[in-house]
Amino acid sequence: MDYDLFVIGGGSAGVRCARIAAGHGARVGVAEDRFWGGTCVNIGCVPKKFLVMAAEYGAAAQDARGFGWNSAPGAHDWPGLIAAKDKEISRLNGIYRRLLDQAGAKIYDARAVFIDAHTLDVGGERVTAERIVIATGGHPTGLDIPGAEHAIISDDAFYLPEMPRRVAIIGGGYIAVEFAGIFAGLGAETHLIYRQPLPLRGFDADLRVGLAEAMAGNGVLLHPDVLPTGITATAAGKQVSLSDLSLLEVDLVFFATGRAANTRGLNLEAAGVKLGGRGEVPVDEGFATSVPHIFALGDVTDRLNLTPVATAEGHALADSLFGGNRRGVSLENVPTAVFSIPPIATVGLTEQEAAKRGRVKVFVAKFTPMRHNLTGRARRTLMKLIVDEASDKVLGAHMLGEDAPEIIQGIAVAMTAGATKADFDRTIGIHPTAAEEFVTMRTQTRVAGPDMPAV
Ligand code: NDP
Repeated sequence: MDYDLFVIGGGSAGVRCARIAAGHGARVGVAEDRFWGGTCVNIGCVPKKFLVMAAEYGAAAQDARGFGWNSAPGAHDWPGLIAAKDKEISRLNGIYRRLLDQAGAKIYDARAVFIDAHTLDVGGERVTAERIVIATGGHPTGLDIPGAEHAIISDDAFYLPEMPRRVAIIGGGYIAVEFAGIFAGLGAETHLIYRQPLPLRGFDADLRVGLAEAMAGNGVLLHPDVLPTGITATAAGKQVSLSDLSLLEVDLVFFATGRAANTRGLNLEAAGVKLGGRGEVPVDEGFATSVPHIFALGDVTDRLNLTPVATAEGHALADSLFGGNRRGVSLENVPTAVFSIPPIATVGLTEQEAAKRGRVKVFVAKFTPMRHNLTGRARRTLMKLIVDEASDKVLGAHMLGEDAPEIIQGIAVAMTAGATKADFDRTIGIHPTAAEEFVTMRTQTRVAGPDMPAV
C-alpha cells in the first residue's frame, strides 16, 4: 500500500486527522480539491464571524454616543470588507496547508474518487491505502420551488460583489438568523421567512422568543409560519411569493434551508460503503463505516455538524488508529453558539427536553446589559439554568446576549465535570459582568416536568 492512511477532504476533520496521524508516524496522504480548511475556514464559521463583527460595528458607533463619543456610523464599504476577509482567509488557508506539510503528510490538490475499497483515483493518480477516511463535509441545499435558480446559498454570500439593499432570507436555522443579523446590521432591509412560529427549532423556547424579539428590535422583518412558493426575476430585482399570499420585492433571495452530506461523485459503491437515507455516511462509535477499514468524520456523517466536533473526531480517530489510544468522542453536553445579533449560546438540555425526562427546577434571569443603560438601546440579556430536581445537577445552561458564546464555554466545562446548582451557588462571581448572573441565580422561576407543560 502507498499509505497507511488516506484522508479525502482537507476541512476541519480531515486536516486534524491527517496531521495527528502523521505525527504518530503513519504514512499519510490527504486530498482536497477546493479549499484547505474546508467550509469553516473559507465559507463558514470564520468569514461569517468577520461579517457579524462588521455588522456590530455600525451599532457600536451609534452606541458610543451614549458614552460621550461624537460618533455616528458612516457609509459601509462592502467590497473593502470582503477584500479584508479574503486576505485573512487566504492566510489561514496557507496555515492549514503548512501544518499538514510540516507534519509530513503528502498533500494532493485534487479530487479523490474510489476505485475499490483500498484504491483511489486522486487527480488521475492511482493511490492505495490501508485505511481511508471520508471527511468531505457538506453543502447548502436550497428549496425546489419555481425560480429557485434566482436565489443564492451561503457559499455565494461570502463573495457578493455588492451589498444588497433588500434581502429575503429563507429558513430559520443557524445560517438564516446569522445572516439576518449581518445584512440588517449593515443596513439592508432584511426579511426572514421561516415555516415555524419561531426561529431556531430545537433551541430552548425562551431563547427562541427572546431572539425573535431581539431581531425585530434590530429591524429584521420577521415572517413566521410562512413558506416561499416561488421567485421571479423582475426589472427591479427579485420577487418572492409567499404562502400567506403576500409578495416581497428584494434584490437578493438567500436559501438557508439546511445542508446535505457531500457523498456524490466519490464512487462509494465501488468501495461498498453504505449510505443513510439523507445521503450521509453512517458510522459506529469508532467512526467506521459499513466497511471496517474505511472511516467517516465530520459533516459527511451528518450528526452534530459543528467544527469543534469534527476536529475532536479527527483527533480521536488518529489517536485510535496510530497513537495506541483508542477513544471516541462524546456528543453529550456539546456547547454551541449561534452568532446572531445578539448571539445565543447553549449547552446541555433545553427546558423542554429536560422536562420530558423528569422534574427540573428552572432559573431564568432577564436584564438590560449594563452598557445599554447608557446607550439607551433596547436590548435584553436572557440567562437560564435547568437543574435536575432530584440530583441538583445542572442539565442545561442557555444564554441570549452579548458575549454569550464566550461565557457559555466556561459553563460547559463545569457541566462536563458534572457540576450541581450548589457548585454554581458557591462560586464567587466576577463583578460587574453579565456572566456573574450564572452564579447568583437564587430564586427559582418555575418547576417543569413530565406532568406539567414546559414553557
Ligand atoms: P439548519 O438545519 O440549522 O436550519 C435549516 C432551516 O431551514 C430550518 O429553519 C428549517 O426549518 C428550514 N427548512 C428546511 N427545509 C425547509 C423547507 N423544505 N421549507 C422551508 N424551510 C425549510 O440549517 P442551516 O442551513 O442553518 O445550517 C446547517 C448546519 O450547519 C446547522 O444545523 C449547524 O449544524 C451548522 N452551522 C453551525 C453554525 C454555528 O455553529 N454557529 C453556523 C452555521 C451552520 P425547520 O426548523 O422547520 O426544519
